[in-house]
Amino acid sequence: MSHSNSPVTARNIYLTVVSLFGIGLVVYGLISLPSFESPTNFLLLVLLGISAQITSTVLSGGDIAVEVSTAVSMATLSLYGREAGVLVAASALITLSVLSLRANWPGWARAVERIGFNIGMGTISIFLAGTLFDLLNALNTQNLVVQTFISWLSAAIVNDQINLWLLIALLHLQSQADPRKLWHQNKWAIPINVLVMSAGGGVLAFAVEQFDIIGMGIFFLPIVLSAYAFRLYVNQTKQQMERLEELVAARTNDLRAANAELAELHKTKDAYLAVLTHDMRTPLSSIKGYASVLSKGNLAEDQQRHIAKILTRSQDSLMEIVNNILEIENLQSGTPIELDRTDFDLAYLIVLVSETIQAQAREKNISLQYDENPTEINVNGDREKIKRVLTNLIANAVKYTEENGTVTAKARVEDGYAVVDVVDTGYGIPADELPYIFDRFRRVKGHRHIAVGTGLGLAIVKSLVEAHQGQILVTSEEGAGSTFTMKLPLQTDDALVA
Ligand code: ADP
Repeated sequence: MSHSNSPVTARNIYLTVVSLFGIGLVVYGLISLPSFESPTNFLLLVLLGISAQITSTVLSGGDIAVEVSTAVSMATLSLYGREAGVLVAASALITLSVLSLRANWPGWARAVERIGFNIGMGTISIFLAGTLFDLLNALNTQNLVVQTFISWLSAAIVNDQINLWLLIALLHLQSQADPRKLWHQNKWAIPINVLVMSAGGGVLAFAVEQFDIIGMGIFFLPIVLSAYAFRLYVNQTKQQMERLEELVAARTNDLRAANAELAELHKTKDAYLAVLTHDMRTPLSSIKGYASVLSKGNLAEDQQRHIAKILTRSQDSLMEIVNNILEIENLQSGTPIELDRTDFDLAYLIVLVSETIQAQAREKNISLQYDENPTEINVNGDREKIKRVLTNLIANAVKYTEENGTVTAKARVEDGYAVVDVVDTGYGIPADELPYIFDRFRRVKGHRHIAVGTGLGLAIVKSLVEAHQGQILVTSEEGAGSTFTMKLPLQTDDALVA
């Protein structure tokens, strides 16, 4: 029968089989209990096993335990036979399971599962180790030291490896982890375990054989103390490893940041190339085309004048691109922008800038509206840089508005700010592109065929406005128009508001 929360899987079948084997071995051990020669000594060994377990050192995430209690069960094995070894191992493992459960309660089903598997794993391995030990001892009729040594060592290795492989099999069924990899991950503990089991077990067995309870007493303290010392050592090593891991993690992060920066640089380089190849090509080819028309001669004077105008405009476009690239490099290099501050009339600056853009507006029959006799708004700032901002905003409004549209530039004072609104009835900016419109090289996709540009103007505008502790804002609706708003802080005593 299977419960809904424990389906029949290879892992569960394996777990059940190992646990049942373990329980069978424990029952077998209990049945043989009355035949033990010195029950008091045996019980003391059980207690010793349990106390040693309390000091056990759980390592590598809790998978593998270096347990001194294995020395006790190995000693018991040689003194009382493998059934007794099974009982000592089982009681030590139950202690371990209960201790680890207390620290981290996984729920009843998991707890039973864990205890069952631990007992199975431990008792099967000690039972098989005991079987081999008895076999090798039976061959050692002359009681040779070398052969005794080999018996202990072999039994210890079998005990340790069966234990490890039973666990690896579970981990493999559980997570499909590569068994060989798991073995390599845990092999560092093998020599320690084998040493504890063979040397520790042998010495303890010898002591009990020679000195009885006193022998046990003599060895109890050193075993527990050395286990404790070992535990301290391992914990310290673990801490050092963690520190090392932290260091590695920090370095990895540095590297990742450097890579991201590099990727950003690559993107910038690509963007520059795009500007150079795409946006400079238009004015360049128009220069080339009209130059060849000119060279053929025979042109009426007004035609020549027309061509001269186009050539000049193309050249201006190229100039603007080059200037923008140079300027954005300066502005975004991280060095603070130097402001040549003076007091000036922001409202009148709008008049001056609008007048220079009027010709472009007229060409598209766009009505460029501004107050020709505005109320003075005195601000303190870098007049040339603010002029550049206004030129960019108003020129953009004309550039991205179709023929017969309207562009309005107006200044006002609001909440301690001098505010300029540049409103147009143009193409507008799609909502999903609006948040990025002030980024370098950012152009609305649909605008590339409408007008030549670099996508640098608004980035420059933003840098310049922010250098003045001001703000640049935009609202826009696709197909209806845009409003760019520049806000510059007014020192109230500097602002003359009539
Ligand atoms: P560009 O050189 O392309 O004009 P800008 O940085 O000045 O570069 O502007 C970036 C992009 O923002 C433009 O390509 C255009 O798509 C969009 N944009 C700027 N101003 C307006 C506006 N008034 N109306 C609609 N779109 C605009």
